[in-house]
Amino acid sequence: MAGRFVPLAGRAQPRFAGVKTFFRLPEADPADAFDVALIGVPFDGGVSYRPGARFGPTAVRELSALGRNFHMSREVDWVQRLDVADVGDCPTVPVSRERSYALIEETFGQLFGAGKRVIAVGGDHSCTLPILRAAAAMHGPLNFIHFDAHLDTYPAAWGEEYHHGAFARHAITEGLIRPGGYAMIGIRGPLAAAEDMAFAREHGIRVLSVDDVREAPMREVVAALPRFEDGPTYLSFDIDCLDPAYAPGTGTPVPGGLTTWEAQRLLRGLAIGNLIGGDVVELSPPFDQSGITALAAVDVMFELLTHMAAG
Ligand code: MN
Ligand code: MN
Repeated sequence: MAGRFVPLAGRAQPRFAGVKTFFRLPEADPADAFDVALIGVPFDGGVSYRPGARFGPTAVRELSALGRNFHMSREVDWVQRLDVADVGDCPTVPVSRERSYALIEETFGQLFGAGKRVIAVGGDHSCTLPILRAAAAMHGPLNFIHFDAHLDTYPAAWGEEYHHGAFARHAITEGLIRPGGYAMIGIRGPLAAAEDMAFAREHGIRVLSVDDVREAPMREVVAALPRFEDGPTYLSFDIDCLDPAYAPGTGTPVPGGLTTWEAQRLLRGLAIGNLIGGDVVELSPPFDQSGITALAAVDVMFELLTHMAAG
């Protein structure tokens, strides 16, 4: 039961007031006794186009003052079932991808090693690779649910293997993901070439495109979603899976994406037995003065927390 780890209530202090932590939760040291660590990963050295995701954690903390705990349709209250804390931001080195990866892997290794589940806020999508390394070192090969406009299985660019469009390819070739346990949702073109789809096909990734989501009744889409009842599962949510109309604050926007409601409905409909971690990445606040992109990220965190509470 919840004790110390209760969000500051909006009816006690107005939501625009106070020092901002994720969901107005207490800050905690990773060594403290709690279940789920919320953590920022402010690194965007892996982007190929517009930067700014390093400001993601700060923007999400701000907007998460609007976060709530009771899920209306699932009738789950994550505050009642989990002790959740804000553990601050992962150390990163803005001018070094290698050192940032090492720090991310070390930090998340400590969290997983202490028995915590994690929800990370990026940062660009390249940050997910060292998190997955730490998760797989602890839990073994993972089921992996990946929301994105992009496949992120792309080849090296500018002679550099590691960038935000290549993390998924490395995660597979490094054996971090259970064969047959990978699903992508929200994928759409255009692609650079026909071969871009080959890697996903060769490795048995289930790809659910926006057309697949949009052209059937949502109840049928949800009923046909891949299921992840068994084994440790990680969910990574690239905010650019949403249409730029719903999430303009991102570095490589792609028209024709999911609506926020469709993403909510898909997240809600996934059967996940053991969600050990998740992230929301690629939020670039400088491209969205309205804050709707950060608010969408808060909503994804809410769905992840509800999955963890219900699982
Ligand atoms: Mn991505
Ligand atoms: Mn993307």
